[in-house]
Amino acid sequence: MNATSPPVHAGVILSTNHIQFDPELSLRGGGCADCGAAAFPCPELCPNCLIPMAPRLLGRRGVLYTYSAIHSGPAGRNTPYTVGYVDLPDGARVFAHIDGPAAALEPDMAVQIRVVPQNDSVCITWTPEGDHDA
Ligand SMILES: [Zn+2]
Repeated sequence: MNATSPPVHAGVILSTNHIQFDPELSLRGGGCADCGAAAFPCPELCPNCLIPMAPRLLGRRGVLYTYSAIHSGPAGRNTPYTVGYVDLPDGARVFAHIDGPAAALEPDMAVQIRVVPQNDSVCITWTPEGDHDA
């Protein structure tokens, strides 16, 4: 983490090496030059071709694949909160915090990434498009 990056709430994104804040919030994943597979976080090797994957920024928008409410969380984390999987247009599937109660979500909803204050840190979350200006 550099001096200008806010602290990131531990959880789904375990390292600030996995995110970029400027010029806009983006996930740092990986892509395969041979088969086009994308993954987050960037694995050392492509799961299809077993050749080295190159770091690449992933899309800021995706589609909610599935989700669940979490009622017992780590200290300092407000509950309940929602986690789920977001499918990105380039094929990566990302496990993530999802904004809002699970009852208000539906599979295949369009979502976009954003930063949400969480106590004395921030949480990277995905929110249904149209709910917030991100
Ligand atoms: Zn590949």
